[in-house]
Amino acid sequence: MTAQSGLVIANFGQTLLVEAGDGTSRPCVARKSIGQAVCGDRVLWQAGRGGAHGAVIAIETRHSLLARTDARGKSRPLCANIDQLIMVTSPVINHSLIDHYLVTAELLGLGMVLVVNKMDLADETRTMKLRDEMAGYRAMGYELRLVSARTQRGLPELDALLKDRTSVFVGESGVGKSSLLQALLPDHEIRVGALSEASGKGRHTTTSTLLFHLPHGGDIIDSPGVREFRLWNIRAAELAQGFREFRSFLDDCRFRDCVHDGEPDCAVNHACEQGKISRQRLESYRAILHGLPAEKYD
Ligand code: GDP
Ligand code: ZN
Repeated sequence: MTAQSGLVIANFGQTLLVEAGDGTSRPCVARKSIGQAVCGDRVLWQAGRGGAHGAVIAIETRHSLLARTDARGKSRPLCANIDQLIMVTSPVINHSLIDHYLVTAELLGLGMVLVVNKMDLADETRTMKLRDEMAGYRAMGYELRLVSARTQRGLPELDALLKDRTSVFVGESGVGKSSLLQALLPDHEIRVGALSEASGKGRHTTTSTLLFHLPHGGDIIDSPGVREFRLWNIRAAELAQGFREFRSFLDDCRFRDCVHDGEPDCAVNHACEQGKISRQRLESYRAILHGLPAEKYD
């Protein structure tokens, strides 16, 4: 049987739902030898005979991968070929959380959009303070959108950033990720039901990951695991690379293995004293550094 190319639009445990070039999709299982295929993977697959599941026979090279380390230290892929993270927050922002997500995006080579949701709850004073707090991120080149899933404010501007890219929404629980997905994907609930049915599992289980096509182009991949995704497996030596504005100073520290935590003649510290790096970002950096497990320092 001839192999066709397709896109994995859902994974439910071992079962994958593969979308063919004609837009139809069917359940498949992956050949053991090819490793784990996940949502967002471009694959080669063959149809099954009769009503049987199809077979995924190859996974195309991925340009990015979100993976989680399980309790046994094994890396488990969550989804593939993501272009950007959309970090959702409420109008009361937590710099250290934003910085952690920025490091995640930078070290994985992904774009990052900062979305402040629930702007309907922010009065003028809060909005002005927020713009002030976010000015540094904008100056570093990160996109910022102030939106409200409730009033739909800012949603077309957010939609424009999602067009023709594959995105995942990340951020703390309760900030409005589900509400935003529902606002951006008019048939969201119907799609979740249809995909779950196609998987034979009957409903959207917590372990499944789904890919949605946006009406104006672009895809969103979503699952509970993807929403909470953060990079924990960072080495001390590479952490500073995740702080975009530190990079041009990193070669000028006296010690080649400087971790910018109070060493003498540290160029990052010097840049901070000169106002070229914000104190808040250096503090975030150090907080993440101190939170890394000891073996990451070698
Ligand atoms: P998630 O956990 O990030 O998926 O957050 P949800 O989408 O479940 O939203 C959490 C709560 O915030 C729900 O009660 C929503 O109705 C509410 N919410 C979401 N977006 C908005 C918004 O733009 N404005 C207001 N006022 N409430 C919102
Ligand atoms: Zn240094």
